Amino acid sequence: MPELPETTVISEDIRRLAAGRRVLRAEVFRPDVTNVPPEEFSGRLRGRVLEGTGRRGKLIVLDFGGVVGLVHLVISGRVLRLPAWTEPDRLNTAVLEFEGGPVLSFAKLWLGYFHLYEPERVGEHPLLARLGPDPFSEGFTPGYLARAFRRRAAVKGLLLDQSVVAGLGNIYVDEVLFAARVHPLRRADTLSEEEIRAIHAATRKILRRAIELRGTTFDSYHDAFGESGGYQRELRVFARAGKPCPSCGARIAKLRVAGRGTHVCPACQSPPTAASGA
Ligand SMILES: [Zn+2]
Repeated sequence: MPELPETTVISEDIRRLAAGRRVLRAEVFRPDVTNVPPEEFSGRLRGRVLEGTGRRGKLIVLDFGGVVGLVHLVISGRVLRLPAWTEPDRLNTAVLEFEGGPVLSFAKLWLGYFHLYEPERVGEHPLLARLGPDPFSEGFTPGYLARAFRRRAAVKGLLLDQSVVAGLGNIYVDEVLFAARVHPLRRADTLSEEEIRAIHAATRKILRRAIELRGTTFDSYHDAFGESGGYQRELRVFARAGKPCPSCGARIAKLRVAGRGTHVCPACQSPPTAASGA
């Protein structure tokens, strides 16, 4: 599933490919992939210029002036360049053709979507309405995290919660907690100030590095140019169950936390005690 780094890369790719260009055609394959009737999807985008792109959490934000496109790729979604206009189909869920330029397919939005909002109503989008601070924003501080962690819940579950911090998913949470030497099952309200500072610093450092390497290609993720990311080569624990910890050599263990496959070094990330476990 694309997390913050992959969403950032795709959003920037779309800007490089299509910013400043006018939409000639826009069509969706299934009505349920968007929040307006299909003919309205076409009508509201046709003739508009893509003025810029951005990201909020794991959502790609496309600024068409009077209309904002919010794209969530969820698990399988991808953005592809097509050689020529192609009618949308099961694979190419939504297709946009830009004047003198690319045809972009928002492909495999099987669980994802391409919603349209008026700029002043974007905040009403159900995901954005409850989105926590961006890890690179001023509001994301160790003090903020300390307040968000005043709960008797496993720290991993809270970091996955988009209302606590925007954009993290299963891969980067495992990597952040390993870097911070905090066990994913630790109860958030038992973390020391030092541990919270370590989680905060690791979040920014790891996400920044992953963006630099253009994301993690674990199964299906590719950027809009069809290229793989590079951060999978730097994963320390994720998907490395049974392999030696890069820091101490102990075997990486896999467990289930917050319903997700979770990777830890049992030596570097001390398992919680009865008092500090969730
Ligand atoms: Zn270790």
